[in-house]
Amino acid sequence: MPKPTRVLTPDQFEKEMNSFKFTRQLKRFQVHHTASPTRADWKRVVKRHSGDAKKAALEVTTGIWIFHTRPKSQGGRGWSDGGMQTVTMPDGLIGLCRSWNRIPAGITGWNTGSFMTECVGDFRRGKEYPMPDAQYQSLVRQIAAFQERAKLDHDAIMFHKEGQATACPGDLEKGPLIQAVAEWKERDLESIDASDAEIDVPSIPGIFSDILGDKPQKTHTIKRGDTLWAIARKHDVSLDRLIALNSVADPGNVAIGTVLKIPT
Ligand SMILES: [Zn+2]
Repeated sequence: MPKPTRVLTPDQFEKEMNSFKFTRQLKRFQVHHTASPTRADWKRVVKRHSGDAKKAALEVTTGIWIFHTRPKSQGGRGWSDGGMQTVTMPDGLIGLCRSWNRIPAGITGWNTGSFMTECVGDFRRGKEYPMPDAQYQSLVRQIAAFQERAKLDHDAIMFHKEGQATACPGDLEKGPLIQAVAEWKERDLESIDASDAEIDVPSIPGIFSDILGDKPQKTHTIKRGDTLWAIARKHDVSLDRLIALNSVADPGNVAIGTVLKIPT
């Protein structure tokens, strides 16, 4: 693959992953950190580009690609391409590097079937641990999108140090990462359920409501970012009625997944 040219947001990555035609078998997502460049290095690059995060991401990705493809005699690795499919920035942007249909150069003996990212930073305790939220979220979403595309379980994740004697990816914890990936996938399904419910429930044939002597109850399942005010406005009901019908104790803090009855 030629020099990197593309940087994606997690949303764009998901779309690309959903439509990508893989020609190889897929088994796991490999997680690495860069150690070098560090997060501090990345910050300097962002500053040099006057805060242009996309330019910085491309420069950091290209820098790693150059190191991997430069001949050994010149201090590089002498590979034909960058080692990893993606480079995950501290702000969550994703630099595209190695072709997705090539086996990565990540963990000796575990590269066939792998898709690989390197997260920029040194995630050992006392260095740059923990990973910033935006970077972690980007990692979670890349893994989830890859696993959904490849029809893999959420534990199809491998850390470099599981296959080789290395500190990579630092003190990042695998259990919570698997959990976060599982939650992200479930949350996606929840929001689909909620929108289905809003379409389907009112169209249930009247016979059922005749038997029950009641109108079908319209509901809304709370998703991240929802506010009661926006839900009330969407359904053209008053905020007070919505709160009263659902006996909401703290309108500013309704848990994700809560099923609200919509006043009719
Ligand atoms: Zn590694």
